[in-house]
Amino acid sequence: MRLRNIPGADDAISSSEYCIQTPTELKGNWQSVFPLSQPLHIEIGMGKGRFLMDMATAHPDINYVGIERYSSVLLRALQKMELSPLPNLRFVCMDATEIADVFDKGEVDRIYLNFSDPWPKDRHSKRRLTSRQFFNRYDQILAKEGHLEFKTDNQDLFTFSLEEIPEAGWHLDASTRDLHHDELLNQGNIMTEYEEKFSSKGNPICKLIASR
Ligand code: SAM
Repeated sequence: MRLRNIPGADDAISSSEYCIQTPTELKGNWQSVFPLSQPLHIEIGMGKGRFLMDMATAHPDINYVGIERYSSVLLRALQKMELSPLPNLRFVCMDATEIADVFDKGEVDRIYLNFSDPWPKDRHSKRRLTSRQFFNRYDQILAKEGHLEFKTDNQDLFTFSLEEIPEAGWHLDASTRDLHHDELLNQGNIMTEYEEKFSSKGNPICKLIASR
Protein backbone atom coordinates (compact mmCIF):
# COMPACT_ATOMS: atom_id res chain seq x y z
CA MET A 1 0.00 0.00 0.00
CA ARG A 2 1.44 3.41 -0.99
CA LEU A 3 2.03 5.52 2.06
CA ARG A 4 1.77 9.20 2.50
CA ASN A 5 2.23 10.71 5.91
CA ILE A 6 -1.13 12.37 6.46
CA PRO A 7 -0.93 15.27 8.93
CA GLY A 8 -3.39 14.78 11.78
CA ALA A 9 -3.79 11.01 11.26
CA ASP A 10 -2.29 10.14 14.66
CA ASP A 11 -4.49 12.72 16.41
CA ALA A 12 -7.61 11.50 14.62
CA ILE A 13 -6.88 7.93 15.70
CA SER A 14 -6.06 8.79 19.29
CA SER A 15 -9.35 10.68 19.67
CA SER A 16 -11.58 8.22 17.80
CA GLU A 17 -14.18 6.23 19.69
CA TYR A 18 -13.87 3.51 17.01
CA CYS A 19 -10.18 2.97 17.58
CA ILE A 20 -8.95 1.09 20.65
CA GLN A 21 -6.20 3.14 22.30
CA THR A 22 -4.78 0.67 24.82
CA PRO A 23 -5.40 -2.75 23.28
CA THR A 24 -3.16 -4.68 25.70
CA GLU A 25 -5.50 -3.67 28.55
CA LEU A 26 -8.34 -5.50 26.80
CA LYS A 27 -6.51 -8.83 26.62
CA GLY A 28 -9.08 -11.45 27.67
CA ASN A 29 -11.86 -8.87 27.77
CA TRP A 30 -12.51 -7.86 24.16
CA GLN A 31 -16.24 -8.55 24.35
CA SER A 32 -16.52 -5.53 26.69
CA VAL A 33 -15.97 -3.11 23.78
CA PHE A 34 -19.03 -4.37 21.88
CA PRO A 35 -22.74 -4.06 22.75
CA LEU A 36 -23.25 -7.82 22.18
CA SER A 37 -21.10 -10.74 23.24
CA GLN A 38 -20.61 -12.84 20.08
CA PRO A 39 -17.80 -14.54 18.10
CA LEU A 40 -14.72 -12.39 17.48
CA HIS A 41 -13.11 -12.27 14.02
CA ILE A 42 -10.05 -10.14 13.22
CA GLU A 43 -8.38 -8.95 10.03
CA ILE A 44 -4.64 -8.31 10.22
CA GLY A 45 -3.40 -5.71 7.72
CA MET A 46 -6.89 -4.36 7.04
CA GLY A 47 -5.73 -1.37 4.95
CA LYS A 48 -8.56 1.11 4.41
CA GLY A 49 -11.08 -1.30 5.95
CA ARG A 50 -13.49 -1.92 3.13
CA PHE A 51 -13.59 -5.72 3.61
CA LEU A 52 -14.30 -5.46 7.34
CA MET A 53 -16.96 -2.78 6.93
CA ASP A 54 -18.77 -4.96 4.39
CA MET A 55 -18.32 -8.06 6.60
CA ALA A 56 -19.57 -6.27 9.73
CA THR A 57 -22.63 -5.05 7.81
CA ALA A 58 -23.35 -8.51 6.36
CA HIS A 59 -22.77 -10.33 9.69
CA PRO A 60 -24.17 -8.33 12.62
CA ASP A 61 -23.89 -11.51 14.74
CA ILE A 62 -20.06 -11.35 14.64
CA ASN A 63 -17.76 -8.83 16.36
CA TYR A 64 -14.85 -7.63 14.21
CA VAL A 65 -11.51 -6.03 15.04
CA GLY A 66 -9.36 -4.59 12.24
CA ILE A 67 -5.62 -4.27 12.75
CA GLU A 68 -3.48 -1.92 10.68
CA ARG A 69 -0.02 -0.64 11.50
CA TYR A 70 -0.10 2.68 9.61
CA SER A 71 -2.22 5.51 10.97
CA SER A 72 -2.38 7.20 7.56
CA VAL A 73 -4.09 4.08 6.14
CA LEU A 74 -6.30 3.39 9.16
CA LEU A 75 -7.53 6.99 8.99
CA ARG A 76 -9.48 6.11 5.81
CA ALA A 77 -11.35 3.38 7.66
CA LEU A 78 -12.14 5.73 10.55
CA GLN A 79 -13.54 8.31 8.15
CA LYS A 80 -15.84 5.67 6.66
CA MET A 81 -16.95 4.55 10.14
CA GLU A 82 -17.82 8.12 11.07
CA LEU A 83 -20.17 8.29 8.09
CA SER A 84 -21.78 4.88 8.76
CA PRO A 85 -20.95 3.63 12.26
CA LEU A 86 -21.12 -0.11 12.90
CA PRO A 87 -21.58 -1.35 16.48
CA ASN A 88 -19.75 -4.63 15.81
CA LEU A 89 -16.50 -3.21 14.39
CA ARG A 90 -13.49 -1.61 16.07
CA PHE A 91 -9.95 -0.81 14.90
CA VAL A 92 -6.47 -1.04 16.38
CA CYS A 93 -3.36 0.74 15.09
CA MET A 94 -0.52 -1.66 15.87
CA ASP A 95 2.05 -4.01 14.42
CA ALA A 96 0.79 -7.60 14.29
CA THR A 97 4.04 -8.90 15.81
CA GLU A 98 2.49 -7.84 19.16
CA ILE A 99 -0.77 -9.72 18.59
CA ALA A 100 -0.32 -12.20 21.45
CA ASP A 101 -0.01 -9.28 23.91
CA VAL A 102 -3.39 -8.00 22.81
CA PHE A 103 -5.61 -11.11 22.58
CA ASP A 104 -5.81 -13.88 25.16
CA LYS A 105 -5.45 -17.59 24.51
CA GLY A 106 -8.41 -18.74 22.38
CA GLU A 107 -10.04 -15.29 22.38
CA VAL A 108 -10.21 -14.98 18.57
CA ASP A 109 -12.53 -17.21 16.55
CA ARG A 110 -11.26 -16.38 13.06
CA ILE A 111 -8.30 -14.59 11.52
CA TYR A 112 -8.44 -12.97 8.07
CA LEU A 113 -5.29 -12.06 6.13
CA ASN A 114 -6.02 -10.32 2.84
CA PHE A 115 -3.39 -9.38 0.27
CA SER A 116 -0.66 -9.29 2.90
CA ASP A 117 2.63 -7.61 2.00
CA PRO A 118 4.78 -10.22 0.13
CA TRP A 119 8.23 -9.28 1.53
CA PRO A 120 9.88 -10.89 -1.54
CA LYS A 121 13.45 -11.07 -0.17
CA ASP A 122 14.26 -14.37 1.55
CA ARG A 123 15.89 -12.61 4.47
CA HIS A 124 12.55 -10.87 5.20
CA SER A 125 10.45 -14.05 5.12
CA LYS A 126 9.79 -13.84 8.89
CA ARG A 127 7.88 -10.61 8.27
CA ARG A 128 5.34 -12.32 6.01
CA LEU A 129 2.03 -12.66 7.86
CA THR A 130 1.84 -16.31 6.74
CA SER A 131 5.33 -17.24 7.99
CA ARG A 132 5.67 -19.98 10.59
CA GLN A 133 6.66 -17.26 13.09
CA PHE A 134 3.28 -15.59 12.58
CA PHE A 135 1.41 -18.92 12.66
CA ASN A 136 2.99 -19.48 16.09
CA ARG A 137 1.61 -16.13 17.23
CA TYR A 138 -1.85 -16.99 15.86
CA ASP A 139 -1.63 -20.29 17.70
CA GLN A 140 -1.61 -18.32 20.95
CA ILE A 141 -4.83 -16.38 20.29
CA LEU A 142 -7.02 -18.55 18.05
CA ALA A 143 -9.86 -20.61 19.57
CA LYS A 144 -9.43 -24.38 19.35
CA GLU A 145 -12.07 -24.73 16.61
CA GLY A 146 -11.08 -21.44 14.93
CA HIS A 147 -9.48 -21.02 11.55
CA LEU A 148 -7.50 -18.62 9.39
CA GLU A 149 -8.43 -17.44 5.89
CA PHE A 150 -5.87 -15.94 3.53
CA LYS A 151 -6.36 -14.37 0.10
CA THR A 152 -3.73 -13.04 -2.29
CA ASP A 153 -3.01 -12.67 -5.99
CA ASN A 154 0.71 -13.23 -5.36
CA GLN A 155 1.50 -16.79 -6.53
CA ASP A 156 4.92 -16.95 -4.84
CA LEU A 157 3.53 -15.77 -1.50
CA PHE A 158 0.70 -18.28 -1.84
CA THR A 159 3.12 -21.16 -2.50
CA PHE A 160 5.24 -20.04 0.48
CA SER A 161 2.11 -19.93 2.68
CA LEU A 162 1.01 -23.43 1.65
CA GLU A 163 4.49 -24.70 2.61
CA GLU A 164 4.52 -22.88 5.96
CA ILE A 165 1.23 -24.40 7.16
CA PRO A 166 2.58 -27.93 7.88
CA GLU A 167 5.91 -26.47 9.09
CA ALA A 168 3.95 -24.55 11.74
CA GLY A 169 2.00 -27.69 12.71
CA TRP A 170 -1.22 -26.40 11.11
CA HIS A 171 -3.56 -28.18 8.70
CA LEU A 172 -4.71 -27.04 5.26
CA ASP A 173 -8.53 -27.30 5.12
CA ALA A 174 -9.07 -25.93 1.59
CA SER A 175 -7.28 -23.98 -1.11
CA THR A 176 -7.73 -22.64 -4.63
CA ARG A 177 -5.65 -20.64 -7.08
CA ASP A 178 -8.75 -19.30 -8.80
CA LEU A 179 -11.20 -18.23 -6.12
CA HIS A 180 -13.62 -16.37 -8.36
CA HIS A 181 -14.20 -19.54 -10.43
CA ASP A 182 -14.39 -21.89 -7.42
CA GLU A 183 -18.09 -22.36 -6.78
CA LEU A 184 -17.65 -23.63 -3.23
CA LEU A 185 -14.93 -21.32 -1.85
CA ASN A 186 -16.35 -18.25 -3.57
CA GLN A 187 -19.74 -18.60 -1.85
CA GLY A 188 -20.41 -15.44 0.15
CA ASN A 189 -17.01 -14.01 -0.85
CA ILE A 190 -16.62 -10.35 0.05
CA MET A 191 -13.98 -8.59 -2.02
CA THR A 192 -11.26 -6.50 -0.47
CA GLU A 193 -9.96 -3.29 -2.03
CA TYR A 194 -6.86 -5.08 -3.36
CA GLU A 195 -8.90 -8.06 -4.55
CA GLU A 196 -11.07 -5.79 -6.69
CA LYS A 197 -8.04 -3.95 -8.05
CA PHE A 198 -6.04 -7.06 -8.98
CA SER A 199 -8.92 -9.21 -10.23
CA SER A 200 -10.03 -6.36 -12.52
CA LYS A 201 -6.54 -6.55 -14.07
CA GLY A 202 -7.15 -10.26 -14.78
CA ASN A 203 -5.05 -11.69 -11.91
CA PRO A 204 -6.53 -14.90 -10.47
CA ILE A 205 -7.14 -14.74 -6.72
CA CYS A 206 -5.74 -17.48 -4.45
CA LYS A 207 -7.38 -18.45 -1.17
CA LEU A 208 -6.54 -20.92 1.60
CA ILE A 209 -8.22 -21.90 4.83
CA ALA A 210 -6.06 -23.35 7.63
CA SER A 211 -6.70 -24.64 11.13
CA ARG A 212 -4.96 -26.77 13.78
N1 SAM B 1 -6.25 -6.10 3.41
C1 SAM B 1 -6.37 -4.94 2.53
C2 SAM B 1 -6.89 -5.35 1.18
O1 SAM B 1 -6.88 -6.55 0.89
O2 SAM B 1 -7.35 -4.48 0.43
C3 SAM B 1 -5.04 -4.17 2.42
C4 SAM B 1 -3.91 -4.91 1.78
S1 SAM B 1 -2.36 -4.01 1.84
C5 SAM B 1 -1.43 -4.69 0.56
C6 SAM B 1 -1.57 -4.72 3.27
C7 SAM B 1 -1.81 -3.93 4.54
O3 SAM B 1 -1.31 -4.67 5.63
C8 SAM B 1 -1.11 -2.58 4.55
O4 SAM B 1 -2.03 -1.57 4.86
C9 SAM B 1 -0.03 -2.75 5.63
O5 SAM B 1 0.26 -1.55 6.31
C10 SAM B 1 -0.67 -3.79 6.54
N2 SAM B 1 0.32 -4.58 7.30
C11 SAM B 1 1.37 -5.25 6.79
N3 SAM B 1 2.09 -5.84 7.77
C12 SAM B 1 1.46 -5.53 8.93
C13 SAM B 1 1.72 -5.84 10.28
N4 SAM B 1 2.80 -6.57 10.63
N5 SAM B 1 0.88 -5.38 11.23
C14 SAM B 1 -0.20 -4.63 10.87
N6 SAM B 1 -0.50 -4.29 9.59
C15 SAM B 1 0.31 -4.73 8.63
